[in-house]
Amino acid sequence: MRANIAGAKSSAMNYRAAFEAAVAQVKGEGRYRVFADLKRHCGDFPTATWTLASGAQRDVIVWCSNDYLGQGQNPVVLDAMHHALDDAGAGSGGTRNISGTTHHHVELEAELADLHGKEAALLFTSGYVSNEAALATLQRILPGLIIFSDELNHASMIAGIRHGGGPRKIFRHNDLEHLEALLKEAPADAPKLVAFESVYSMDGDISDIVGTAALAKKYGAMTYLDEVHAVGLYGKRGGGVSERDGATADIDIIEGTLGKAIGVMGGYIAADAVIVDAIRSHASGFIFTTSLPPVLTAGAVASIRWLKEHDEVRARLQERAATLKRRMAAAGLPVMPSVSHIVPVLVGDPVHCKLVSDLLLSEHGIYVQPINYPTVPRGTERLRFTATPFHTNEMMDRLVAAMETLWTRCNVQRLGGQAA
Ligand SMILES: *Cc1c(COP(=O)(O)O)cnc(C)c1O
Repeated sequence: MRANIAGAKSSAMNYRAAFEAAVAQVKGEGRYRVFADLKRHCGDFPTATWTLASGAQRDVIVWCSNDYLGQGQNPVVLDAMHHALDDAGAGSGGTRNISGTTHHHVELEAELADLHGKEAALLFTSGYVSNEAALATLQRILPGLIIFSDELNHASMIAGIRHGGGPRKIFRHNDLEHLEALLKEAPADAPKLVAFESVYSMDGDISDIVGTAALAKKYGAMTYLDEVHAVGLYGKRGGGVSERDGATADIDIIEGTLGKAIGVMGGYIAADAVIVDAIRSHASGFIFTTSLPPVLTAGAVASIRWLKEHDEVRARLQERAATLKRRMAAAGLPVMPSVSHIVPVLVGDPVHCKLVSDLLLSEHGIYVQPINYPTVPRGTERLRFTATPFHTNEMMDRLVAAMETLWTRCNVQRLGGQAA
């Protein structure tokens, strides 16, 4: 007998039709995702070769990378990775407990603890896994834990909170009055955790860490902060917005990624040693999975050490982002208000959003991915640009000129609300 998802018997479930319907639904809403096939040019950031379905190849400028500082190509990082590969080989060979803890892992956890001014840190295979595992495990360690979660928290935080299965209260985005009202309603003696992010990467706004931590303290709650889009980018040594705002000590658990500004891959939490030890001992998503390859951990160590010493690249990033926002606004393009390095431009319709993105790529050699539902709410579909220290004025000139042309041609809303 041959397995056939078409389903031969009339009474049987038509599996193929169900899968086709799932794809058709996404296509019908204009938010079917097509991945651009890119090969980044090492040593020539932010350029890449784009391979089309036909097999043809074109050079493009990447405008939406989360490798915000080009650390994925920093020679210091590459050297460390080459050395680790030659020294220690390809994979780690096991879970952390069963032969998978290399010296590079130990070094990286110490480096991360130091970066955030915490006693300890714990590595996970990605930022997603760190959020999912830590937030679910906290609910097991603290029975009855009530999690107060910002409504715009990342999917990985939501997954962890849901997986834990305990009570959760969603507060309006960055709304401390609403958070306080919810904290006040909860039993005074219940364990509580406020979970939020520093830089919200789709809007580019930044939360009030000091204010949130003060509220948490007032109501006896712990704090959990996702600094994924801020690590390496904010604070004198790249310790994130909590470092910039002098609030490191007010946050109980800081979570981050090694995959964005650090330029490699992996995730982590940093906290008091006892918190890290408890999560290390109970988190399934930490325990039962092969640890990161030493190549990655060695690259991350080199990247973090370099970033601690090079505050000037952070200043340059902010200057580039401010310049891009200014130039786009001057051209009447609807740049969304952002106080961070993120430059979102509102389109407001998934079909338009994809069309503009497709034309930027095919006609102008400019790559920016459309951001559609469910990543952002429907009606707020946007293009999200990231200007790095390596994006030149000439690249910005080309980008703004191309956007102006397409905004007119595709009849997308400009500033002031009128269609061009
Ligand atoms: C990307 C992202 C993550 C996940 O990090 P990865 O290392 O890419 O898995 C977590 N939180 C936020 C806010 C993110 O944007």
